[in-house]
Amino acid sequence: MKGMLFDVVGQPLRLTECRLPEPLENEVLIKVLACGVCRTDLHIVDGELPEPKPRLIPGHEIVGTVAALGRNVHAFERGDRVGVPWLGRTCGACAYCLSGRENLCDSPLFTGYTRDGGYAEYAVADSRFCFSMPAQFSDAEAAPLLCAGLIGYRSYRMTGEGRLLGIYGFGAAAHIITQIAAHDGREVHAFTRPGDISTQNFAKRLGAVWAGDSDSMPPVLLDAAIIFAPVGSLIPLALRATAKGGVVVCGGIHMSDIPSFPYRLLWEERVIRSVANLTREDGRMLLDAAARVPVRTSVQLFPLDQANQALDQLRSGKVEGAAVLVPPD
Ligand SMILES: [Zn+2]
Ligand SMILES: [Zn+2]
Repeated sequence: MKGMLFDVVGQPLRLTECRLPEPLENEVLIKVLACGVCRTDLHIVDGELPEPKPRLIPGHEIVGTVAALGRNVHAFERGDRVGVPWLGRTCGACAYCLSGRENLCDSPLFTGYTRDGGYAEYAVADSRFCFSMPAQFSDAEAAPLLCAGLIGYRSYRMTGEGRLLGIYGFGAAAHIITQIAAHDGREVHAFTRPGDISTQNFAKRLGAVWAGDSDSMPPVLLDAAIIFAPVGSLIPLALRATAKGGVVVCGGIHMSDIPSFPYRLLWEERVIRSVANLTREDGRMLLDAAARVPVRTSVQLFPLDQANQALDQLRSGKVEGAAVLVPPD
């Protein structure tokens, strides 16, 4: 099989002939039909996350069909369509796993980071961490749900019940969460790179009541804000735009340094918190919500061998919605 291999920080991914992996006891071999391109993939290839697997195949939004099963797999059959998320495996035994917080597991494996992912024709995944995908989404449309949607939804749940919601950074996650939040009766305020009118218009089309530049104030103080952009300087801006008692949720895995800011921005019981990874329960909740709303994902397709171009476009903010890689038939 062919896969896009990440070897060295700063070098393009390399399309390589790889050995077809064999599924172990609880694993499934998946023929990849689509794999989303996530900002985390950029952080990995840019060397911003520590210790990726050597000779790594990135990609953790995999949609495909089961081609072979390990002998302990009973939940799926050959030909079933499954989705593989970022959380590739947990230990099941640490204090976090045992208290319903498997997203914080002490010895996890992450798809496309510490184990091989889906920038390839085939991938192997632990079946216990795979999802059945709602039939109404095509393969490419389903892919962004698996990280942008799923970790976006966890971030959204952390904002609480407030009606006035801000979203900083309007990429793949925001374009999904805006639709769900609007459906829930939230008033979404979308913040983009200053001057990015086309993304602001995109946000309004998806249900945002207001869209503007990230350094501007919204027309009302927000109950909560989510920051999806990996930009630390957005934290004081989001605090400034948030009402007393509000929460600012950082949804990304990496962020540039946070500049110092006056304590009064945080005072009055404002909260800053981060979100890490996902639980399988998050996945079930998001897939259920996405099917119910229903969410319409906006995808830009790239052939597998153009993974580098997809990453470049994501880096320069040129992707509207989500980029998705599609292997050859
Ligand atoms: Zn654990
Ligand atoms: Zn991701």
